[in-house]
Amino acid sequence: GADISARNIDTLSAQFPLCMQNLHRTLRRDAHLKHFGRLQYTLFLKGIGLNLEECLIFWRSSFHKITEDTFNKEYRYNVRHSYGDVGGDSNRRGGGYSPFSCQKILTEHPPGPGEAHGCPYRHFSLENLTTLLQGVGITDRSVLNGVKEDKESQKFHMACNRVFEHVHKNEIKKAKEESIMTSAQLETMVHPNEYFKRSYLLKN
Ligand code: SF4
Repeated sequence: GADISARNIDTLSAQFPLCMQNLHRTLRRDAHLKHFGRLQYTLFLKGIGLNLEECLIFWRSSFHKITEDTFNKEYRYNVRHSYGDVGGDSNRRGGGYSPFSCQKILTEHPPGPGEAHGCPYRHFSLENLTTLLQGVGITDRSVLNGVKEDKESQKFHMACNRVFEHVHKNEIKKAKEESIMTSAQLETMVHPNEYFKRSYLLKN
């Protein structure tokens, strides 16, 4: 599979859960993300195994409308802080912050206008959610209807897992047949990094 490096994030992002695909698409569209979006995405990228040096390259090249000086002054520190490279002792000892779980993303800091963090299954209107799903290639009517029902009954994880199972249906079938993955490994996911890890395992 592709290396976990700055130049491969565009390719790898096809295997990200919808929350992170939304951040990635917004970043590519605007060459910018607001604070909580940067935090949510940086910690996710750290969680998939992108090292600090590559993460800094990723953000610097993504924020291509600003100068080196502005990047260094306003953004570099926060990325390093997320990795525990700078900051207080406990942050440094712990290697920085942990990637956010779905629970945290679903319940803390709901996105305001112009912000792209959060969980699209929860924080988007049904119309915007459907448009986003179609934008990432989910056009199957029964999947879209299932997502709508999950959203209406506030089962946001279910929606996310439904999409995962649809996107990976061939690989899951094969993995089950060949006993590559146990049923425990195919249980409902509750973490964006688990979503990627499982996708990476199935597709590589
Ligand atoms: Fe992301 Fe979790 Fe929402 Fe899926 S359910 S989009 S992994 S926050």
